[in-house]
Amino acid sequence: MEKKKVLVIGGGLGGLSAAISLKKNPEYDITIIEKNVHLGGKLNFVEKDGFSFDLGPSIYTMPQVFDRLFTMHGKKREDYYQIQPVRPHWRNFFEDGTIIDLEPDIEGMKKPPGSLSDKDINDLRSFLSYSQELYHLSDEAYFKNQSEKMLDVAKYYNPLTFLFRSDFFSSMDQGVRKHIKNPYLIDILNFFVKYVGSSPYDAPAILNLLPFVQWEFDLWYVKGGLYNLARGLEKLIEELGITVMKNTEVVGTEKTDGRIQALKVQSSAASGNVLPFQTLSCDLVVSDMEVIPFYEKITKESDLRLKSYREKYGPACSGFALHLGVDRKYEQLRHHNFFFTKSGKKHFDYIFHQHKLTEDPTIYLVAPMKTDPGQGPAGCEVIKILPHIPVVDPDRPFTEEEYETYKGHVLDKLERMGLRDLRKHIVTEELWVPETIEQHYYSNQGSIYGVISDKRKNKGFKTPKHSEFYQNLFFVGGSVNPGGGMPMVVLSGQQVVDQIESFNKT
Ligand SMILES: Cc1cc2nc3c(=O)[nH]c(=O)nc-3n(C[C@H](O)[C@H](O)[C@H](O)COP(=O)(O)OP(=O)(O)OC[C@H]3O[C@@H](n4cnc5c(N)ncnc54)[C@H](O)[C@@H]3O)c2cc1C
Repeated sequence: MEKKKVLVIGGGLGGLSAAISLKKNPEYDITIIEKNVHLGGKLNFVEKDGFSFDLGPSIYTMPQVFDRLFTMHGKKREDYYQIQPVRPHWRNFFEDGTIIDLEPDIEGMKKPPGSLSDKDINDLRSFLSYSQELYHLSDEAYFKNQSEKMLDVAKYYNPLTFLFRSDFFSSMDQGVRKHIKNPYLIDILNFFVKYVGSSPYDAPAILNLLPFVQWEFDLWYVKGGLYNLARGLEKLIEELGITVMKNTEVVGTEKTDGRIQALKVQSSAASGNVLPFQTLSCDLVVSDMEVIPFYEKITKESDLRLKSYREKYGPACSGFALHLGVDRKYEQLRHHNFFFTKSGKKHFDYIFHQHKLTEDPTIYLVAPMKTDPGQGPAGCEVIKILPHIPVVDPDRPFTEEEYETYKGHVLDKLERMGLRDLRKHIVTEELWVPETIEQHYYSNQGSIYGVISDKRKNKGFKTPKHSEFYQNLFFVGGSVNPGGGMPMVVLSGQQVVDQIESFNKT
């Protein structure tokens, strides 16, 4: 029997997961087409002056989702890469000198440096049981049964029960405040929105499931650096005999009658020379390129067709990713750290509504050498600084001077909050701004988490995986359900198999 030709556009985690999951069925002949030299997409890294920098993710959660990629082929994840838990989960610094560690055992948060009161701990417990309820609600309808829109949820729950149990009319922030009174804890819990690059004032309360996910499934580091996850998946892909075309960009399609018949691709040789166009015929296309950029650049849909997509499924935030090699240690840091703004409202308003760079952002800072001293020279520190910032606005891009001023504000804040003389100790650096991210991965306006989670625009739903315009086109990755972040995009790659199989039966 002739095999069905599946072309996967993009070797990010979504594309790799889809290819590995589809490979379970011997009917498919699968090729991954990746424009960059490496597999992993945003999971990327660079070595500079003896320092290793993970350019993308730093937090690994829900290990069971990744493990499935191996167990479905009778393999063990441990044979490809290892993970270890991070303690504390993260350290939170506030401008008034308060420091609170987020511990997996919340009783431990009564101890210094946080010294939370019994009432705070009881409030946190009440919040976590609410968070657990939200997780179980989503697990059934969204993660396991793949609801793609609000109407699908009605198949699993009575609408009234769902509205009540999902805290439907609240934002994340409102949901947090129903349980928590301590202002530091409110900031900390609101900032779990970082996993989806949105605002707690706009995101639906259902996303308050995120803290339960972290406490329940723990927070992990991939030994030797997060990029080892991409290396492990590449090894699995080789063993499974999946074809990979790197340095090859999909630039167009041949389509008739609402079907994509072939992809037009262009490869670059090792010398950097661009090779002639090729046409690859296909039965099915799985795009890990995000939905809006795909329709804009590859099939070139009209603005009219894309209007509702742009309104509903706009980009999550981008980031100012500053990787520093520093020739000293900062003992007060832990592996993951947050340096909080004095005004969460302003921080999020500037990113999502004003399109401005604030002078006082909340800064996420990763110091991986706390867990893994092998990431840089002895006595030194790798410091990755990642405040979220607005996506690229083509009508009003930030200038280099504006980015430089912003960098100054970020370093000032860190020095003020205890990283004394940070500037003087920088020996090497690597900066990625939203434009760099957009150019490398073709994400929508440089988004780092795919589609925004917004109560009014999309109720937290992302784009459906099956294309409305082309019968044999499916999407995976951060721009489709269940959304951005590594475990979710891996899940999208596993879920798409069911949708493809039911399509094949029609
Ligand atoms: C700085 C940063 C920090 C992050 N931190 C975390 C974290 O701590 N934890 C977490 O879970 N998540 C984190 N994320 C988010 C996470 O990285 C993403 O959600 C996830 O990796 C996205 O995977 P994807 O497959 O959807 O997209 P991508 O990784 O962007 O993959 C898409 C791939 O498609 C390729 N491509 C696009 N267009 C074409 C084309 N026309 N032809 C060929 N190839 C094409 C791209 O080159 C890319 O390789 C972070 C992201 C960034 C950038």
